[in-house]
Amino acid sequence: MNGTYQQQYLEEIGITVWSERELVSIEATPTDIKHVSEENKSSYKELGQELSHLANQVEACDQCELHKSRTQTVFGVGNRNSDWLIVGEAPGADEDFKGEPFVGRAGKLLNAMLFSMGLQRQEVFIANILKCRPPKNRDPKINEVEACEKYLRQQIALIKPKIILALGRIAAQNLLKLDTPIGKMRGNSYLYPDTNLPVVVTYHPAYLLRSPREKRKVWQDIKFARDAYRELV
Ligand code: SF4
Repeated sequence: MNGTYQQQYLEEIGITVWSERELVSIEATPTDIKHVSEENKSSYKELGQELSHLANQVEACDQCELHKSRTQTVFGVGNRNSDWLIVGEAPGADEDFKGEPFVGRAGKLLNAMLFSMGLQRQEVFIANILKCRPPKNRDPKINEVEACEKYLRQQIALIKPKIILALGRIAAQNLLKLDTPIGKMRGNSYLYPDTNLPVVVTYHPAYLLRSPREKRKVWQDIKFARDAYRELV
């Protein structure tokens, strides 16, 4: 990786000062929702046939009450052959509008975190435990997580990642079926239930934007995740 770029991204996650100019803007644009939905459908082609078929199933899903309030489903984006699956909590307002996970400021910070790990956003696959936005960004309900889990499991079965990076307490606790505080999960490697797939945990970028002092801890998590991955390959 270009050292200057890496320095900039390390600065973004709180190591020193950083500059935004090298980051690619992924802000949602004020595009007509219908147009965005159609654009999103066409992007499913990039997922390959099986993931695309699953994305269409998700798009038609009404198995929890979130289908009533969503603008559109947020299936996930990225490289369907990636070793890395990044899993967050649920779409927020920007994601619900754009149909893509981790856009807006949290998305930019996630991109910076990935870049610090030597990864580009398009090299990984990014998804959430819920595919539809909870109203007013409330926490997911247990019945919603249970209803949606089958989709993430199928995504994992099709993508076959080597490692999952869970972003935030809600994603980590729901993925791992644990109620351990995130502070105690960090720095440990877990297995995704009923699989041999390692899961490592760090803070959610949206939390880091609210609590910038915690950014420094993310560098430890990034090194831990990178080392955990290197042991696998
Ligand atoms: S959150 Fe998941 S289970 Fe609920 S409606 Fe959306 S896709 Fe279906």
